[in-house]
Amino acid sequence: MKPNVIGEILSIIPQERVLTDLADRYTFSYDASFGEYLPDVVVQPHTTEEISRLVKLANREIIPVYPRGSATSLSGGPLPVKGGMVLDMSRMNQKLEIDTENMLAIVSPGVLTADIHRQAEEAGLFYPPDPSSSHVSTIGGNLLENSSGPKGLKYGTTKEYVIGLEVVTPMGDVIRTGGKTVKNVTGYDLTRLIVGSEGTLGIVTEAILRLIPKPPSRKTLLAAFDRFEDSGYAITRILSSGILPAAMELMDQACIRAVENYQPSGLPVEAEALIIIEVDGHPAAVEEEIRRCEEICRGQGANTVTVARDEKERETIWKARKMVSPAITQMGPTKISEDATVPRSQIPAMMKRLRQIADKYRLNLVVFGHAGDGNLHPNIITDKRNEEEMKRVEDAVTEIFEAAVELGGTLSGEHGIGVLKAPYMEMELGPIGLDMMKKIKEAWDPNQILNPGKIFPEPGQTRVVLRQNES
Ligand SMILES: Cc1cc2nc3c(=O)[nH]c(=O)nc-3n(C[C@H](O)[C@H](O)[C@H](O)COP(=O)(O)OP(=O)(O)OC[C@H]3O[C@@H](n4cnc5c(N)ncnc54)[C@H](O)[C@@H]3O)c2cc1C
Repeated sequence: MKPNVIGEILSIIPQERVLTDLADRYTFSYDASFGEYLPDVVVQPHTTEEISRLVKLANREIIPVYPRGSATSLSGGPLPVKGGMVLDMSRMNQKLEIDTENMLAIVSPGVLTADIHRQAEEAGLFYPPDPSSSHVSTIGGNLLENSSGPKGLKYGTTKEYVIGLEVVTPMGDVIRTGGKTVKNVTGYDLTRLIVGSEGTLGIVTEAILRLIPKPPSRKTLLAAFDRFEDSGYAITRILSSGILPAAMELMDQACIRAVENYQPSGLPVEAEALIIIEVDGHPAAVEEEIRRCEEICRGQGANTVTVARDEKERETIWKARKMVSPAITQMGPTKISEDATVPRSQIPAMMKRLRQIADKYRLNLVVFGHAGDGNLHPNIITDKRNEEEMKRVEDAVTEIFEAAVELGGTLSGEHGIGVLKAPYMEMELGPIGLDMMKKIKEAWDPNQILNPGKIFPEPGQTRVVLRQNES
């Protein structure tokens, strides 16, 4: 980057928030996925005005700009793949207002999602989107990835709760979309266009989130199955019985054993599958629904069903589920985490395909996920230094996406496209669908400065390359 550009950045942002040292820049070269890319400069803005001026400068000089929250992206979303400027949005965390009268939260993008959960609940309200990373990820990152978690089954994803945004456009202008009203049908829904756009169409500098009343009661159960298929039938039966649980999570045997090896939690290691079900709502309805869920699980062959008797037991069950990700990380040096999603009726078929793929490519593949909404997390445990195995991983990942799309599903239910899934976009969208998306990008960002190298495949790119010495 030209020295005069750094000089101009320093005229916008004080020196202590402009990082040019190699060591500092390395700290911003990765996320939670794969690959490292060194930015030329890291800037830590505090205000919308600062961001607007930086983006105008980047347009004049044609410098790539990479917004970044906490960098927990599993798809390469914030990676500065073309160098340029990383905008560290985590420092823009000044505002977290709960407006109880209108049941809203008004937040800066760098606020941690768990802080919104906590403050909303203190006011008797509830912000449902609950990615497992919510204690470390920013609401900005959640918005741009349209993140969700176990509660997505009943309450939907982040986009259902965003009703207004302040956005710095890729040209550096500041716009407001939506507002504080729950109803708003004025023109195109730009709020929904920005949410889930992975930082390619604008930089979110403030968001207005809808809150709902906190459910007064909840109950959780854990059911263990000797046969994997039976857990799938139990899930389908519960969902077709008129009960809509708040969450319905699935763990396969490899996950159960990984958790027990990592931190013994009393899980049945001989079980082929576990499901965790939580229902919430009016206390009387909750009692009746958890009883029905227990009955259905037993009827479908569950050999044990444990209903948590109090909050402590509930937490123990959820702790085991939350342990899955760190536990499987211990199984090998590299974890490739996918989130292909299928219609829920296709979960058994997808599980079968995943097992066939693991056998065909001789890979260590574990599966957990949000069974109620078809969002599975096949994780391949591998070693990125092993070139030959990484080639097999690439083939397996490609087949996992093919399987999901063939079964009527999608490349990503949660983690976004980023760099890692970009080569497969046409597989799901078709050439015209993909072209329509590219036209939107070109209209918003004619100089292609905002998060370039994401979502759209590079020319000729048809599959992911995970081997280190290949570009
Ligand atoms: C252990 C673990 C568990 C996870 N569990 C879940 C889960 O349950 N559900 C789920 O959905 N995801 C999950 N994730 C993925 C990840 O946490 C989410 O995608 C999260 O929303 C990313 O937030 P972040 O603050 O880390 O954003 P980053 O990773 O820094 O960025 C994500 C994307 O948003 C863009 N961006 C960030 N801030 C802004 C902004 N203000 N304006 C414009 N663009 C911006 C970036 O350019 C990038 O494209 C998990 C990740 C890990 C490591």
